[in-house]
Amino acid sequence: MRVAVTGGGGFLGSYLCEALLRRGDAVVCLDNFSTGQPKNIAHLWEFPAFEFIHADVSVAADVPGPIDAVAHLASPASPPDYLRLPLQTLAVGSRGTENALELARRNNARFLLASTSEVYGDPLVHPQDEEYWGNVNPVGPRSVYDEAKRYAEAVSLAYRRSLGVDVGIIRIFNTYGPRMRLHDGRVVTSFIAQALSGKPLTIYGDGKQTRSFCYVSDLIRGLIAMLDSSEAGPFNLGNPEEWTVSDLAQLVLEITGSDSEIQYHPLPTDDPVRRRPIITRAHEHLGWIPEVRVADGVCRTVEWFRSRAYDDGPLVTVADPEV
Ligand code: NAD
Ligand code: UDP
Repeated sequence: MRVAVTGGGGFLGSYLCEALLRRGDAVVCLDNFSTGQPKNIAHLWEFPAFEFIHADVSVAADVPGPIDAVAHLASPASPPDYLRLPLQTLAVGSRGTENALELARRNNARFLLASTSEVYGDPLVHPQDEEYWGNVNPVGPRSVYDEAKRYAEAVSLAYRRSLGVDVGIIRIFNTYGPRMRLHDGRVVTSFIAQALSGKPLTIYGDGKQTRSFCYVSDLIRGLIAMLDSSEAGPFNLGNPEEWTVSDLAQLVLEITGSDSEIQYHPLPTDDPVRRRPIITRAHEHLGWIPEVRVADGVCRTVEWFRSRAYDDGPLVTVADPEV
């Protein structure tokens, strides 16, 4: 296959590009490095079948030559990122998704949308299956991400129903691992960065809110299974292992051996109270099941950051495909 991966310079996208290349696919990565980094894909230049196009897919998603599949991952994903880039987040969820869908339609290609558990908002039903419609504040600060993704799901399924595009949707629950930006503000990396540098771990609220954390290798297996299928979904992809934020902080302290203190900060507006996926559908339709326990995945992530001496590098915002 020749696969176009939007957002391929980001955390998940770079792993997806790599996994596809390793199994023999050709990959065209499209990214504007708004939240991704050239170093995420630096090791992929050794694959002759790897191409890179510096593009803001909200403006255009054009790829010369035929392609067989489009995986649309472009979007800020960390809350501090999408709160810092509200209009860009709305643009890439709406116009960016439309441009990526058009790319798939022109090529008669499979289209995979990376949606999110945030479509459930602050869920009133727990745990969440795909039948739940969600509880989203349409005018709160997080709405730039949540509503953009909800629109992205709607327009993708409209392309499937009315234009026959082979669309599949997955809803990703909190995923972590090596290659995240150490300072991207998501909880796993924040706690690791703080613990490794001896700074206080910042718990927002009382720390009793929960998330379910999936290790990156598990998630990428699920993405590829969905890409290879002709299922429409939506399917939840996530690890049902549910942790309070406080327990996660303790885990990071244990794994790092850090004696950092815990510091409490106000809970961000509309921060979901609990979140855990029901993954029966992904299991039944894709044969997918996550394998990496949180304690193990956090250990691997800590080791990765340790071995890089906390080198987060600058946030790259300019075109630099040669890096
Ligand atoms: P990330 O920020 O590391 O990657 C996103 C990538 O998209 C970056 O490389 C960024 O530069 C690129 N991008 C953003 N806007 C763009 C645009 N207009 N044009 C071209 N490229 C653009 O985030 P991630 O964690 O890798 O997330 C990837 C996708 O998965 C996102 O769509 C996100 O919403 C979804 N997702 C991730 C998680 C998670 O826990 N990691 C959870 C739910 C959903
Ligand atoms: N969180 C926290 N301290 C941090 C960063 C995040 O307590 O330094 C909390 C955040 O308020 C939320 C949870 O951890 O309740 C997960 O946050 P993250 O930004 O990783 O993901 P999301 O909110 O998108 O699930």
